[in-house]
Amino acid sequence: MRILLVEDEKRIADFIKRGLKEDKYVVDTACDGEKGLYLAEINPYDLIILDIMLPLKDGITVCKELRNKQIDVPVLMLTAKDSVGDKVRGLNCGADDYLTKPFAFEEFLARVRALIRRKTGNKSTVLKVADLQLDQLTHQVTRAGKQLMLTHKEYILLEYLMLNTNTVVTRTMLAEHVWHENFDSFTNVIDVYINYVRNKIDKDFKKQLIHTVRGAGYILKE
Ligand code: CA
Repeated sequence: MRILLVEDEKRIADFIKRGLKEDKYVVDTACDGEKGLYLAEINPYDLIILDIMLPLKDGITVCKELRNKQIDVPVLMLTAKDSVGDKVRGLNCGADDYLTKPFAFEEFLARVRALIRRKTGNKSTVLKVADLQLDQLTHQVTRAGKQLMLTHKEYILLEYLMLNTNTVVTRTMLAEHVWHENFDSFTNVIDVYINYVRNKIDKDFKKQLIHTVRGAGYILKE
């Protein structure tokens, strides 16, 4: 899952980015409202974390413009302000949730996960396809009860496939949701990683779950 973080305070941005990466998210950052809006328009993010007080364009305006352009990605607003008026303004401009700085990182992560779950329609944090299980909280992956060790990128790739079970996932979709901006989707890196994941989740098992759809991409299904 790929997240855009729009935050101008470098210390806070670095802290949030590091925590999100540890929790297996792909993170792009923007340090002003205009760059944030631009990135949000050209990339299909799974969540946007938006500070309110930003240079060039404030978070409320960015959020309003996104909604006016029919970009309905979930938005989590961050602000140092704690007045009821700001919370209401944030939510009225189309944000989905609101968090006041300073916040406990665990609460922040729980809100991030909840917003992404709502978007993908998953109520549980444990994804299951046949005997394959992925726990989004502990990041453990098992097949037939056997624990599988995946690298950071393999995990993000598998999670995306599992969130889209029974749906053809194109290389473009994978490039957009599993890799950072500026990633060249025409390289064969995606196919290489699919093979890594296959070797771990399918190779030693009778039933194959990841299937190649010729000319289209991949599908994970029973
Ligand atoms: Ca700020």
